[in-house]
Amino acid sequence: MTERAESGNDRAKTEKMGTIKSDFFMELYNLTIKQAQEKLSAKEISAEDLTKAFIGRIEKNDSNISAFLTRTFDNALEQAKKIDKKRIQGEKLGGLAGIPMAVKDNILTEEIKTTAGSKILENYIAPYDATVFKILKNQGAILLGKTNLDEFAMGSSTENSAFQETKNPWDINRVPGGSSGGSAAAVAASECIFALGSDTGGSIRQPASFCGVVGLKPTYGRVSRFGLIAYGSSLDQIGPITKNIEDAAIVLKSISGKDKFDSTSSNEKVSEYSDSFKSKEKIKIGIIKEYFAEGINSDVKKTIQNAIEKLKEVGCEIEEVSLPMTEYALPVYYLLAKSECSTNLSRYDGVKYGYSADKENSEEVKNLIDAYFVSREKGFGKEVKRSIMMGTYALSAGYYDAYYLKAAKVRTLIKEEYQKAFQKFDCLIGPTAPTTAFKIGEKIEDPLTMYLSDIYTVPINLAGLPAISIPCGFVKPEENSNELPVGLQIIGNYFDEEKILQLANLYEKETEWNLKNPKI
Ligand code: GLN
Repeated sequence: MTERAESGNDRAKTEKMGTIKSDFFMELYNLTIKQAQEKLSAKEISAEDLTKAFIGRIEKNDSNISAFLTRTFDNALEQAKKIDKKRIQGEKLGGLAGIPMAVKDNILTEEIKTTAGSKILENYIAPYDATVFKILKNQGAILLGKTNLDEFAMGSSTENSAFQETKNPWDINRVPGGSSGGSAAAVAASECIFALGSDTGGSIRQPASFCGVVGLKPTYGRVSRFGLIAYGSSLDQIGPITKNIEDAAIVLKSISGKDKFDSTSSNEKVSEYSDSFKSKEKIKIGIIKEYFAEGINSDVKKTIQNAIEKLKEVGCEIEEVSLPMTEYALPVYYLLAKSECSTNLSRYDGVKYGYSADKENSEEVKNLIDAYFVSREKGFGKEVKRSIMMGTYALSAGYYDAYYLKAAKVRTLIKEEYQKAFQKFDCLIGPTAPTTAFKIGEKIEDPLTMYLSDIYTVPINLAGLPAISIPCGFVKPEENSNELPVGLQIIGNYFDEEKILQLANLYEKETEWNLKNPKI
């Protein structure tokens, strides 16, 4: 394993470990946002140097990892040069000026392809930017490219992409998780400093866990969804994937806030999230009992238990809490998410957007109805079709009350159970996923097993709460296999991302997991 560059927590840790490190040997692609900002503003490095370091990294490694669907290197270099010029001339720069990033390919980018990992949007170019992307661009962040995902963000392994399979940088025979697998793999492989993902039922946290990086799903409404290609509109949130907690706080601060284009975005005050790191307040933690029941891999369980011990050592008050409604979360999530997706995806009819089957390119098309059917038949992949069928069935007249309505009611009960827990605890914790990264092909033919990898993440989206996955150790699934990362999930109360970040930072400060990088 090689070691990442250090700053803040990391620097203190290295001093403790007694290692002397020279910046001279540090590769630029190993920098965190904070470190890069320091070096850029001290004019030790230029935005062009930094961007070139990442481009070199992508060119060298991404043919193996396949994290990127679209590369935007020319634009990136042009932008970097502009920023350098402005800096030299002493002009005011945005908070993320010169920081290279990657964006999941279901987030709209004007003039740059956005495919959602689907053939139906293979050549789609959006006429406007998603709010999050616009904000980051205005702050000077530099887009290196768009990252791979499960088609329309449906999946847990990124194998459902219509274009390519992304590999886990810790073991290229394994999946990076999903659906934001491209973004998580890109950060883990140091192919960008940070990335954006989207999380409907775990798609930021589960790939972050599988790839050994930090993934934060904000409270529903904290971040604008305008320009995010919808999967389940009552569940979707955009969030950052980063190398450490400090960077997650920086990106979250940038992208949070009310957006007049998203009526579900919140007016709630946006905090200076990294201020929470200074807090000395004791944190009361509830360990969710049901997250350790049958189905969890025993090594993952042990790793999480060790993390809990660590949190006790650093003075957190810890108690077990039972959330019995957890049992119903998975079926409730899949009913609701698929119902919402079946309506959201009805707009892809071969007329308004993307791929279109017509008389010219398909003999099967004789009239308009055929055009709808054939465009969707050829444009969508297996999991998306499965989802649309499940959702349409659950919403149909005869079944609505029995399925959709019942699931919506149980969702309220799940939410209430969490609300009650937060009367007593500041944070709840448990594993992010029941296993480490599984092998490519292992679960793709068995959707129900695949769905089980989201068992600890979906309840959080149903409740609309914020949660983070942070690296908390490594396990070897087989004797001869590579070490694979394990993620600890920290869940917070509504709009209390500060507490989550405070606790995550406390843990990160005491451990060395975030300093490890895959050997690639
Ligand atoms: N695997 C889950 C699903 O397919 C979650 C996906 C996500 O969060 N986008 O619904």
